[in-house]
Amino acid sequence: MSEGVNALLSEETTAGNYFISNYPPYSFWNPEQVSQAHAALDRPPRPDAALGIYVHIPFCRKRCHFCYFKVYTGKDSDEIDRYLDAVIQEVTLYSEKRFIGGRKPSFIYFGGGTPSFLSTRQLSRIVDAMKRSLAWDQAEEIAFECEPGTITEGKLEILKEMGVTRLSLGIENFDDHILETNGRAHGSKEIAASYQFARTIGFPQINIDLIAGMLGETEANWHECVRKTIAMAPDSVTVYQMEVPYNTTISKEMQVLGQAVAPVANWPTKRHWVDYAFSEMEKAGYTVASAYTAVKDPHTKFLYRDLLWTGADMIGLGVASFSHVNGTHYQNLHDWDPYIDTVHEGKLPIYRALTPTEEECMIREFILQMKLGHVQREYFQRKFGVDVRQRFASSLNHLEDEGFLQMGAENLQLNRNGLLQVDRLLWEFFLPQHRGTRYA
Ligand code: SF4
Repeated sequence: MSEGVNALLSEETTAGNYFISNYPPYSFWNPEQVSQAHAALDRPPRPDAALGIYVHIPFCRKRCHFCYFKVYTGKDSDEIDRYLDAVIQEVTLYSEKRFIGGRKPSFIYFGGGTPSFLSTRQLSRIVDAMKRSLAWDQAEEIAFECEPGTITEGKLEILKEMGVTRLSLGIENFDDHILETNGRAHGSKEIAASYQFARTIGFPQINIDLIAGMLGETEANWHECVRKTIAMAPDSVTVYQMEVPYNTTISKEMQVLGQAVAPVANWPTKRHWVDYAFSEMEKAGYTVASAYTAVKDPHTKFLYRDLLWTGADMIGLGVASFSHVNGTHYQNLHDWDPYIDTVHEGKLPIYRALTPTEEECMIREFILQMKLGHVQREYFQRKFGVDVRQRFASSLNHLEDEGFLQMGAENLQLNRNGLLQVDRLLWEFFLPQHRGTRYA
């Protein structure tokens, strides 16, 4: 990324991806390497590699104005059943591959879209069928994303029976006007009711998602959101900073109006709001566990994140899902009919892939673990034979000089200021050919 773009990004919110979720950037994955994904699936697993499953449920009641995920808002029950048939068929295809090597999933993540959009019948059907292909009895974590307006007590009871351990409520904001302005489908009454149901039924971990800097956000309202969150006492709180990726309703409107700057708070303001949220949560006894999360119990685990960021295998089921198996990254076909038709032909619906080099794998884990706020040198020495302090000396010295990082003998530690803008800083560690490119 050029210094000019960096300087702009450091202040105003412009169109484009901010959040770094993988490495090398997706724009380097390509159809020519799909055969490598198939080869990776036909090899036995690496010793000690954990296995996880991500299930993409791409349905929502409405499309939020900031949403860039693959979601559908108009599918009827028959179409949803057809999609679930494909997901079930896909997991069956995986269960016959060598990379499974007798493993059972350690973590399962239902994301979207809105997994809670599914009816109780659809939920039971997909879960029972998935379990028949790959047993869940060793799954330590089953995470499930919910949109408050789609929750009923009956649905939560099914989720509890399914063994969900981490229920995540996409609240984002508590103010009805802001929710509506951003195109969210739920309102404040549904937040209170869904949280109450979830607490009554009892899940080991309830997470609340918030977004700092939605359209119309103000300092006073943000303080109120933080106050209400703390009053609810969730086990975990995830706070994202509003970004405006390409292909969102907001970025398309910006293009029509010829606006370079998004009509949301700038980055310093959003960082200030997340800092406020973390500080208030710390006063209430929470611990900041990553650039985005605060947890009530400092020992709270989030296996989907922690295992994925240390190189676990994960198969992504569903349209446009991302996988990482035996050292190869790949993504599924991203359109409805090709995805479903390919699976029904008995083939895995893989669209693009990339096998990172050993060095790229090391960088991937390094930048993802930086998002936790600290990196252990010994981990990289043991796993990759690399002293990250030497390997990244110039970037680390730069971040230290800028006041974002302290380098200890054993750990590299981002301070709060560094943590709040970690996604912007991670480009420092990309190989030269991956900088200055479109991330997605
Ligand atoms: S609920 Fe989530 S996935 Fe659905 S439209 Fe909104 S942001 Fe996108």
